[in-house]
Amino acid sequence: MVEPNYMADIVGVFGFPVAENPTGVMQNAAFQALGLNWRYLNFEVTAEHLAAAVQGMRALNNFRGVNLTIPHKVAVLSCLDEIAPSAQVIGAVNTVRREGDRLVGENTDGKGFMRALGDDADIDATGVHAVVLGAGGAARAITVELALAGAGAITVVNRSVERGETLARLLNEQTRARADFVAWQGRYRVPEGVDLLINATSIGLYPNVNDTPELDFDSVTPGMVVCDVIPNPPSTPFLRQAAARGAATIDGLGMLVYQGAIAFKMWTGYDAPVEVMHQALAAEFGE
Ligand code: NDP
Repeated sequence: MVEPNYMADIVGVFGFPVAENPTGVMQNAAFQALGLNWRYLNFEVTAEHLAAAVQGMRALNNFRGVNLTIPHKVAVLSCLDEIAPSAQVIGAVNTVRREGDRLVGENTDGKGFMRALGDDADIDATGVHAVVLGAGGAARAITVELALAGAGAITVVNRSVERGETLARLLNEQTRARADFVAWQGRYRVPEGVDLLINATSIGLYPNVNDTPELDFDSVTPGMVVCDVIPNPPSTPFLRQAAARGAATIDGLGMLVYQGAIAFKMWTGYDAPVEVMHQALAAEFGE
């Protein structure tokens, strides 16, 4: 006879607002595919209650980890026992895992991007010149991981000068990559010799599906790999225009799935069923 165990392991996301966060769709599909008695839930946590929510997690032994979304990715750092090295440089945590009694902060956003680059496009980041459009949380996570993986040069292109300069300074001071900043005014022309072009802005995110970053698409060449962080819809006008110029493309849905797959492995110890997770999210996004 099998011993009964009615105690599910719990993971989830703390955020506010959080009702529309779709991560649970792919994580729960993955738990089901592997026959794990785990559940992923969305927890509405306001900024003033974040520390109490994390403290509560400590008391619940079968609460195995959590994702953080707006507005908690930076504030959570002071609630944890340890921050992984890349999350420290990024200055933000999107995943917490338990290590015994300790809570460890990780950032899987940039790691998901790197896995999409390596697994889906067979790109080694060593020595590449990357241009990243945007300087917010996603741009920070991606550029730090690229730099730590050995990227040679990173050009940060951003509308707000202060935010862009801050990111370029961070990369120069805390990594070995050479970073520069270009203020984004009008149609940006991608310089020659660029290997990777990444849209890390929120331009094109549902429901504004026709919005496109202001770019001279004739400066996109067939040798470039062009990536978009927008997961919904995965096919953006930015990627379609780049593909029309012969560039290889990587969409944001893959990155989102991989960052979830990395968290899944951190929590459960099992390799994530990436294809199952991809299908679950694509169906959710109506693809
Ligand atoms: P932030 O708010 O931190 O940053 C947004 C960035 O977009 C800023 O650089 C901002 O520029 C820029 N931006 C927004 N609108 C415009 C515009 N009209 N013109 C020029 N620049 C603009 O957001 P995040 O970095 O957290 O998220 C960005 C996107 O990444 C979101 O769409 C999110 O869904 C996606 N994302 C995807 C992930 C994935 O796994 N696929 C993971 C994490 C995020 P400025 O500084 O000038 O305001």
